[in-house]
Parts: sequence; structure tokens; C-alpha cells
Amino acid sequence: PLTTQDFDTIAAISTPPGEGGISIVRISGKDAFKIIDKIYRGKNLDKVPTDTINYGHIVDPQQHNEEVDEVMVSIMRSPKTYTREDIVEINCHGGLLVTNRILQIVLSNGARMAKPGEFTERAFLNGRIDLSQSEAVMDIIEAKTNQSNKAAQNQLNGKLSRMVKNLRHQILKTLANVEVNIDYPEYDEAEVMTTKIIKKRALAVRKSIRYLLDTAKTGTILRNGLATAIVGRPNVGKSSILNRLLHQKKAIVTNIPGTTRDSLEEYVNVRGVPLKLIDTAGIRNAKNQIERIGVKRSEKAIKQADLVLLVLNASEALTAEDKKLLKMTSKSKRIVILNKTDLPTKIEVDSIKKVVGKDNVISTAAIKLNGTDALEKKIANLFFKQGIQSTQNDVMVTNARQVSLLRKANGALNDVLKGVKAGMPVDLVQIDLKRCWTFLGEITGDTYNGELLDQLFSQFCVGK
Ligand code: GDP
Ligand code: ZN
Repeated sequence: PLTTQDFDTIAAISTPPGEGGISIVRISGKDAFKIIDKIYRGKNLDKVPTDTINYGHIVDPQQHNEEVDEVMVSIMRSPKTYTREDIVEINCHGGLLVTNRILQIVLSNGARMAKPGEFTERAFLNGRIDLSQSEAVMDIIEAKTNQSNKAAQNQLNGKLSRMVKNLRHQILKTLANVEVNIDYPEYDEAEVMTTKIIKKRALAVRKSIRYLLDTAKTGTILRNGLATAIVGRPNVGKSSILNRLLHQKKAIVTNIPGTTRDSLEEYVNVRGVPLKLIDTAGIRNAKNQIERIGVKRSEKAIKQADLVLLVLNASEALTAEDKKLLKMTSKSKRIVILNKTDLPTKIEVDSIKKVVGKDNVISTAAIKLNGTDALEKKIANLFFKQGIQSTQNDVMVTNARQVSLLRKANGALNDVLKGVKAGMPVDLVQIDLKRCWTFLGEITGDTYNGELLDQLFSQFCVGK
């Protein structure tokens, strides 16, 4: 429906905290235009077309209309707006004081301070986007590489939603079939036929759900980063290799404090895979930090890692410490890097390949740039087996909430199939099918509750 619900009017500063060239105070709701009328001097905003930006001044009605700032005011009329409500955005000078003063004036003249994510929540409640799309908005804000961004954009475009809705529709059709057959029990073969239909449909839907679950591994990495530990004894070339990975792509993405994570995390972009380095306490200081990581701390890092890069010095024979690290990482997803191959090789390459598998070994000479390109490729291939291009258009599940619902939906279908196999009465099997339908509905928000919304949108930053 194009009509918006009758919510109160909310406002917040939508630009990041701190000083900048401009800041934006955003207002959304039925009183947005009434409020700006009271506090703006300039054009007649009632007469300006929608989606225009207008020069003028903000004044403070409670202070004899004292002029507060020179501004540009965007006017966006319902329903074609982010929230589907009337929206006003005040572009003011980006000072802390002036921005906060304007927000205060807006609040004293009829708006309420928005909760984190409340603008996006409105977009959801007013039917502009569904829940998985709302989550995509957050993912776009936090995206660390182009691939992460692409996956989130696809989700915002509604690809995942359409697929999930289609699965729900198939289930609904089946449930309808079942109803009909239950209503005509005198028809002898009804029960048998119904069971056949249910089984066929359940298998098909389960296949799609499993496909989506398969994408989650890559999707989650794109969203959260791949926890990576670079280990090896001193002087084998860890810092040099890290610096190669950094310098070639020059892409350190730093989380802005005040968004969802409170600690500063840094990522290395390796061909679209965001590597989140463990225990390096800031990539910029990595050179010093890595030095201090002894075997003991390596053990901890290895445990946390999704991927271990174990660096060995190929110009020396294996030491006891090397062997220990090889053993410690034997259960991890790992790449063993034989570095310093520009020098005469003393390490037994073949026996190492035998132990760790030849696909997991790579030779480099970091000092000469040799092999680091191949290393990047290997890292990327490890996580994007189908080739990284597959993220360009494919549906991808990226967050834990969606994954957990898909698992539940998958479980419900397993129950359906078990029931069919055991010859359970159709009306009982139907209950599990309905459960699956409900779980899928929670992904898109077709079925939701207030608690879920609070929990989900509170992860957003204020002003989004
Ligand atoms: P880390 O202690 O493991 O971090 O090792 P570094 O990256 O700090 O390197 C230790 C020393 O080995 C430095 O002098 C590097 O220049 C040198 N080094 C690193 N990689 C190579 C390489 O591929 N070949 C040669 N010959 N020297 C290297
Ligand atoms: Zn070093």
C-alpha cells in the first residue's frame, strides 16, 4: 500500500558525529513540513516541488526568531521517500554546536528524537522495504570491500526477498492442495496423492533452502570479514608479506566509532575478501606487533582464525618451532607460505607438501614481490570456489539471523519428509510445513514481532 501509517514525527543528525563540511538533520513524519515552516526563513516551501533543495536560514522561534545558520533544505514529499513519509533534510554547517542547536530547535518544535535505525524501521513498517532489505542497508553502510557492497546491494534490491517469497508461495500452494484433499476425504486416493505432492514440494523447497545456506559461508565472510592469523617464527617474513598484501591494494577499511562495533577494526582487502587480522592490534602498527607474538599467543590466534597463514623460511631447514606451528595449525584452514625462495632452498618442500597438501603450499619471495600475487589468488579461491564473479548477481545470505531462520526452515522440512516416510497423517505433516512457511516469513518480515524489530534496528546508527 502506498499510504503510510500515522506515526509521530522523528528527527536525528544523519551525518557521522564530529566536525565536517556539512551536517544533515533529518526529519520524517506527518509534521515534518509544519516544523520546517516554523523554523525556516527563505522560499515558500509549500510551493516548491518535491525532491528539491532550497536555500534559506534556520531561525529559533523560541529566541525571537534569532538566525541560527545558513542552510540548504531538502524537501521530499510522501510517498516516494526513504521512509515513505514526508522528509525534510536540513543541510547545515558541519559544526558540532550548530548542528546540535538545529536538532534541538527541531525537537522543540514538534519532533521526537529518533531511535537508532528508526528511519529504516519506518521504511519497513510503511512497506517500502522488507526486513532482509533493511538489514542490507546496514550492510551497505558497513561494507568493507566492493564485493561486500555488491552482495548487500543485491539484497537491498530484493533478490533474496523474491526468492524467499517464491518458496513461501510454493508452500502455501501445497498447503492449499492439502486443505482441499482433507475436505474431501471420501475421495479414496486423496491421501496418497496428497502425500506425493507434499513430498515433491518439500524436496524442491529444501533444495533451494540448502542452496541459500551454502551461500551463507561466503556471504558471512563478506559481511564480517575473514578472521586471519599470520604466524611464524621471528624473521621468516611475516611483516613483509603483510605489507605486500597491504601495499598492493592500499585498502585499509576502518570502522568508524559509534557505528555498531565499538572497537576499531581494520581490514585488508584481498581481491574482495576482507581479511580481519587477528592479534595485530592495528595494521598500521603491524610490523611491531607481529614481532611480539610468540608461539603461545600464536596458539590463541590460531584458535580464533578462519584462516591461518603460516610463514616458513625456505632458506633454512625446519626448526622445532616450525614443526610445532605446523602441528598447531593442522586442524585449521591454512596456507603454508615458503618465503625467501630467492635464496638457496634448504627446506624440504616435498615433505611439507605431503604433510599439508600441495594446494595449501605456496612459495614466495616477499622481498622481491614474487609469489604474493599468487598468494592473493589462493586466498580468494579458498573462499570463492565458484569464482568471485559469482557474487555479482547471485543471491547471497549474509547474516546470522537469516542463516538461523533458514536452518530452522530446513529442519522443519526434514520433519515433513520424516513424517511422510513414517506414514503420518497428512494434517500432522501439514503442521511442519506451516512451520517452515513461518520461519521463511521471518526472513522477510512477513511475520515479525516488536521484539525482533527492536533488536534488529537497535544495531543501526542513529540517523539511519
Ligand atoms: P617477520 O619477523 O616474520 O615479520 O619478518 P620480516 O618481514 O620482518 O622480515 C625479516 C627479514 O627478512 C627482513 O630483513 C626482510 O627484509 C627479510 N625478508 C623478508 N622476506 C624476504 C624474502 O623473500 N627474501 C629475502 N632474501 N629476505 C626476506
Ligand atoms: Zn617483521
